[in-house]
Amino acid sequence: MFNSIEGRSVVVTGGSKGIGLGMVRVFARAGANVLMTARDALTLERAAEGLNGLPGAVSTLQVDVTNPDSLAGMAEVAAERHGGIDVLCANAGIFPSKRLGEMTSEDMDSVFGVNVKGAIHAVQACMPWLETSGRGRVVVTSSITGPVTGYPGWSHYGASKAAQMGFIRTAAIELAPKRITINAVLPVNVITEGLDGLGQEYLDQMASSVPAGSLGSVEDIANAALFFALDEAAYITGQSLIVDGGQVLPESAMALGEL
Ligand code: NAP
Repeated sequence: MFNSIEGRSVVVTGGSKGIGLGMVRVFARAGANVLMTARDALTLERAAEGLNGLPGAVSTLQVDVTNPDSLAGMAEVAAERHGGIDVLCANAGIFPSKRLGEMTSEDMDSVFGVNVKGAIHAVQACMPWLETSGRGRVVVTSSITGPVTGYPGWSHYGASKAAQMGFIRTAAIELAPKRITINAVLPVNVITEGLDGLGQEYLDQMASSVPAGSLGSVEDIANAALFFALDEAAYITGQSLIVDGGQVLPESAMALGEL
């Protein structure tokens, strides 16, 4: 049986939708008090309405991870509302598709600004409180795209997700004396609101490339993040956990054909 994380203070960036919202739900269900952050106030408000009645408290704050002042405010509000910060889920990310031939410098800046600099600034902003916690945890939402695989249209995105992995390895060394761990979850395609519009045929096709036979849920990713936040994971840092139902494993499509 694992120790409870009840009463811990958790901050989730990009918490209003998709994987981030799954993280808010899973942590609040485990009794942690969660500050759910994103840019759009209405989406935050609607998301929070769906989380009433969970054991942990959930509150919202408008935060833009591309603005270091906004992130500094996020850390202060989390500490004020929940008595400190124990866990940061640096999850906010964007994934616009653009082929290499058409990609502009602005496209690259925008993806790196949110995915790389946004995650690093979020860690910097929360660091003092994570250190005071004595059991600080950072979980970065990276991706298999970049660190492990590639996909046309996502070369800048893949580079940003691989950059996050480079970041956590050195950050882990710097944060270790402060009793802060930093790890990454690497999701593959999961079922989010964003995929709903693509149709059942597309979803079935995607699921057919997963040995487990189905797409993951946001909770599948969030549970991995929760694991890194546990007391029992205190000695794990600078690591990554692929959560993909085995999707990256087949040597070729033929391997799946053998099933
Ligand atoms: P999503 O459903 O599009 O949600 C993204 C969240 O980030 C929203 O809450 C969004 O809210 C917020 N956000 C975007 N830009 C922001 C900014 N500048 N500042 C603050 N918040 C911002 O995305 P998702 O699919 O859950 O993806 C979440 C993370 O998982 C990303 O890092 C992504 O790269 C990674 N990932 C996703 C998948 C997948 O299949 N979905 C697979 C691998 C990795 P606002 O727009 O209101 O700010």
